[in-house]
Amino acid sequence: MTPLHLKTLAQHIQALAQHDYTSVRLTEYYLNRIEQLDGHINSFISITPEHALNAAQASDTRRQNGTTLGPLDGIPIAHKDIFCTQGVKTSCGSKMLDNFISPYNAHIVEQCQQAGLIMLGKTNMDEFAMGSSSESSYYGPVKNPWSTAHVAGGSSGGAAAALAAHFAPLATGTDTGGSIRQPAAFCGLTGLKPTYGRVSRFGVIAYASSLDQAGPMGHSAEDCAYLLNVMAGHDARDSTSIDRPVDDYVSALTTALPAPATGKPLEGLRIGLPKQYFQQGLDPDIKAHLDSALAVLERQGAVLVEVDLAMSNAAISAYYLIAPAEASANLSRYDGVRYGYRCANPTDLTDLYQRSRGEGFGPEVKRRILIGTYALSAGYYDAYYLKAQKVRRLIAEDFKAAFGHCDVIAGPTAPTAAFAMGAKQDPIAMYLGDIYTVAVNLAGLPALSMPCGFDTSYAGETDGPRLPVGLQLIGNYWQEAQLLALAHHFQGLTDWHTQFSPIAAQTLGA
Ligand code: GLN
Repeated sequence: MTPLHLKTLAQHIQALAQHDYTSVRLTEYYLNRIEQLDGHINSFISITPEHALNAAQASDTRRQNGTTLGPLDGIPIAHKDIFCTQGVKTSCGSKMLDNFISPYNAHIVEQCQQAGLIMLGKTNMDEFAMGSSSESSYYGPVKNPWSTAHVAGGSSGGAAAALAAHFAPLATGTDTGGSIRQPAAFCGLTGLKPTYGRVSRFGVIAYASSLDQAGPMGHSAEDCAYLLNVMAGHDARDSTSIDRPVDDYVSALTTALPAPATGKPLEGLRIGLPKQYFQQGLDPDIKAHLDSALAVLERQGAVLVEVDLAMSNAAISAYYLIAPAEASANLSRYDGVRYGYRCANPTDLTDLYQRSRGEGFGPEVKRRILIGTYALSAGYYDAYYLKAQKVRRLIAEDFKAAFGHCDVIAGPTAPTAAFAMGAKQDPIAMYLGDIYTVAVNLAGLPALSMPCGFDTSYAGETDGPRLPVGLQLIGNYWQEAQLLALAHHFQGLTDWHTQFSPIAAQTLGA
């Protein structure tokens, strides 16, 4: 019999509906796994058993009374520790917020509660979501369940690792420059960054507000569709949240792609391949896996067309000016006065500011604050910040032109598979790994990553551990349903997303 943690989300939904097991049983099972095994992975910052079991009990009562709140009622979930959770520590991976108990819930946390989802705890992440490896967390690095010598990706690395270890069937993440897609790729998961404005940022600790977007992470496009149904929608408390109807992403899994009159299932679907995404810098093994995945889609009738994203080379530079500039402003609120870390025995106000910030922030956060402050200062503003904003516009125009020739864009999520822990000490080397993800955020487009193979020879390793490879699909604005449907179709033909990490294969005597 399949152990509970290896069942799919759809199987859990069905089993709860048929009363095969209760939400309390499922929740206890996952909590037990986390307790027994997370010491190897470090995917959680906080575990909330009391909260979870009370919520699970309430869900079971609703089910007995025939008043369930929807398909996900009673299903456990892990929230990234960037989402404010009322009465629960919300640290954002930082010493600065180690003592912060949020007085309110983020919009998406509220939405999940209203759908009956059970929060198991808060997942580990790069400090203030700044990073691509989840090594910059105050709570220690997250390890990849496929190989604990490798990083889980970042910044939503805890969410990805928790899923890959099968500590939870669903997780939330945020993506400012790739933080849902890249850890999803490194851990063999499906993760979606929605169109900017599709999901409310209310109660999401701000990193770079014009780029931040929350989204679902799971084992399949179907899992993401279920969770996006709960997360998406207008919220007046976020002025950038857009008031437009939300699709039913689950039913759209089988209806969002245009039905071909005759011929093959993907007949006529034009998939754009940006020529800049398949050039130097891309690991040849990753390219080989992408080519095989694209061949699968081509055999289904999709047409592969080359598109030109000419500004791609400027994306990293523009992103690493705009994101730190916004971060330097957003993080000015952590001053030791109102909430968060305060230094001991300050001698005066300046000492209070300097030491609270000096002791509360880690090195990567300080580096970003310095870069951002510099880029925004008089004399440099025009040369750096304003220039970066102009490049941002050109990047968005590139995508617009590309979508004149194709329906969806495909490419790598990251240039390599998960790298070894500690391998990227040079910040620039770390930043360059974001080459295929940041442009999407600069343009505000939706994109997802899904598994398309395993690399066993990264960085010259012969016969190294099996590390997942991600394929990125980028859609036009508001085309989340189409992206999920295409990924779902691919997952109906392949089994990359159903494979288990070594930690997932460990079964406890529960
Ligand atoms: N790696 C990118 C950065 O460090 C993206 C992080 C994110 O999306 N939160 O900024």
